[in-house]
Amino acid sequence: MVKTKKQPLLYLCATPIGNLGDMTLRALEVLAGADTIACEDTRVSGKLLKHYQIRKELFAYHEHNKHEAGEALIKKMKVGQVVVLLSDAGMPGINDPGMELIRRCQEEEILYSVLPGPSAFITALVFSGMDSSSFSFRGFFPKNNKEKKKISEWLDNDEATTIFYETPHRINKTLAWIAEQWPKRELAVIREISKLYEEMIKGSAEEVLEEAESRVLKGEMVLIISGAKENDTTVYTDQDLDALFQRFQEQGATKKEAIAMMADYTGQSKNELYQRFMLK
Ligand code: SAM
Repeated sequence: MVKTKKQPLLYLCATPIGNLGDMTLRALEVLAGADTIACEDTRVSGKLLKHYQIRKELFAYHEHNKHEAGEALIKKMKVGQVVVLLSDAGMPGINDPGMELIRRCQEEEILYSVLPGPSAFITALVFSGMDSSSFSFRGFFPKNNKEKKKISEWLDNDEATTIFYETPHRINKTLAWIAEQWPKRELAVIREISKLYEEMIKGSAEEVLEEAESRVLKGEMVLIISGAKENDTTVYTDQDLDALFQRFQEQGATKKEAIAMMADYTGQSKNELYQRFMLK
């Protein structure tokens, strides 16, 4: 069988996650030759392209227009245009709509390629020095109780390192939730990777929480949690739950609010807590 090398019509191109110097030579070459550059935020990618003196029109492709914009990009590729897809930072397709375009290319049998480069979670994992022989990336840390409960079960049992993206306005709450259940579990918060204030805070969950509460953690961050080991789980006894219920009410919460706060804090089902504290 003779295989001819065809040029891909779509390139997913990784871009720097903080330091503009982390752009590959090949990415620059492909961008310079592209017909269309699609990106999440034209202002963000515009800065990158300006830095490298690449003057091209940018096409917005993001969570809110991915269907129409995706189809418009497919049309362009079908007439032979070369499209490059960028995310705001890092690898397109990781926590952004890039995967949808890949799937559409697969359906349409359009040849595509991926240009390797930075991704925040892989960089953070290596930074942490934690076990990388087996790990799981779970995207953004969940907000709702149902998802948190699933994560709680996961973290109770999974021996692999778990990686989350997290935001500055939620990090303390998340750390408190983790420290409450597994105070001795090893954690790392790695923030502002490749930027001026790059730093890692690493220690037991309760230590990392204490540090986070002593100042304001700003910027972009990744949270890494070591795998489950025996004896690192906090089991909430009835007495613990009673004490928490009382504590939240003493802080001014109504019974209903205290239950919602406990569900948030312990990862336990709101319904079960309601049954226990409101209907007894
Ligand atoms: N596609 C990107 C990638 O490959 O990493 C991820 C996009 S996701 C929407 C953005 C999240 O990645 C941020 O909220 C933060 O959690 C993480 N992140 C991005 N840049 C980072 C940096 N320089 N340092 C730490 N975390 C970063």
